[in-house]
Amino acid sequence: MKYDYLIVGAGLFGATIAHEALKKGKTVLVIDERGHIGGNVYTENVDGINVHVYGAHIFHTSSDKVWDYVNGFATFNGFINSPKADYHGERYDLPFNMNTFVKMWNDVTTPDQAKAKIASQTMGYTPENAKNLEEKAISLVGTDIYEKLIKGYTEKQWDRSCDKLPPFIIERLPLRFTFDNNYFNAKYQGIPVGGYTKMVENMLCGADVQLNISYNDVRGKVDFGKLIYTGTIDGYFGYSLGKLEYRTLRFETARLETNDFQGNAVVNYTDRETPFTRIIEHKHFEFGKQPFTIVTREYPEEYSFGKQPYYPVNDKKNADLYMKYRALADRERDVFFGGRLGSYGYFDMDKTIENALDLAGKIL
Ligand SMILES: Cc1cc2nc3c(=O)[nH]c(=O)nc-3n(C[C@H](O)[C@H](O)[C@H](O)COP(=O)(O)OP(=O)(O)OC[C@H]3O[C@@H](n4cnc5c(N)ncnc54)[C@H](O)[C@@H]3O)c2cc1C
Repeated sequence: MKYDYLIVGAGLFGATIAHEALKKGKTVLVIDERGHIGGNVYTENVDGINVHVYGAHIFHTSSDKVWDYVNGFATFNGFINSPKADYHGERYDLPFNMNTFVKMWNDVTTPDQAKAKIASQTMGYTPENAKNLEEKAISLVGTDIYEKLIKGYTEKQWDRSCDKLPPFIIERLPLRFTFDNNYFNAKYQGIPVGGYTKMVENMLCGADVQLNISYNDVRGKVDFGKLIYTGTIDGYFGYSLGKLEYRTLRFETARLETNDFQGNAVVNYTDRETPFTRIIEHKHFEFGKQPFTIVTREYPEEYSFGKQPYYPVNDKKNADLYMKYRALADRERDVFFGGRLGSYGYFDMDKTIENALDLAGKIL
């Protein structure tokens, strides 16, 4: 059989294109080298708790178009992300807001006092004159917030001291001078009831889906009209120009026989000594009432080839190499690259879907 579309990758990008193609009456084969659909948004149901296997995923968007689109495949539960920070046992609210400031400083209760306190701690650094990440962060939030909530966390993420990291890694550090713990500024937010896997399953309804199959397994063996490729762009070209670099994470998941481990979905550990950066307690994403719980510790790790490529490295060397692959990609006929790996970029879920809808609008 000849398919109109071969889609490599059953993540959100591939699933969106698949759905749009099916709507137009096209035939679609979706393959994925993993043993499940959903890509990094995959959730696994363990005795009623949907575990976010590749890290906490909270859907948020300000786009009416994307929100209407995802609501066609799932009902969202109104979850609001309000993570906490733990610094050597001291608990702070995130994002940095009046609740954080009042806890941090005994003599601060008003927005003006908080602003004055931060301004008094910038040590003469400005975002423009900062020579490294440490100076940039201090210029934006002052020394106390930097020392307790940014330094250790960032050093664990990058495995390098903040005074050795370039300032551009942080663009800005949002400060909110109201008592508002909602992490995202988005118009809409939530978690799909029943998990992301169910949502992606609904998106893929009508497509042929084959799992545990990589593109190299079917290359030259499947007959198709157009190819949508959401794997790594350097991988598609056999790494002929060199390998793009990523940052990666390791997840350690445990089931605990207690009904509530930490009282919140996400707690960030911001000191340098605790080896993980956060603990996720999955049941809280869906207000679970089970007598047990499942928690995941997230450890940033050095990337080496073969590990999960989670985040692209935002530096000139990798951007230049990506542009060279992009030039090769532009010369391919009837092959379209997309998604986070095909575009070597970090995209939130809403942006991933929006990008896929844009591509579908152009090629279908
Ligand atoms: C730790 C973490 C937390 C995140 N949290 C959030 C959040 O809270 N909110 C939010 O909006 N976004 C979040 N995101 C972003 C979100 O994960 C992405 O927007 C989304 O997963 C991108 O979908 P995709 O289809 O581009 O890629 P993927 O989900 O990676 O899908 C690509 C698929 O292609 C498959 N594949 C690759 N190469 C091949 C090949 N050669 N052959 C066959 N199959 C192949 C892969 O196995 C994968 O399943 C987070 C990302 C990470 C890493």
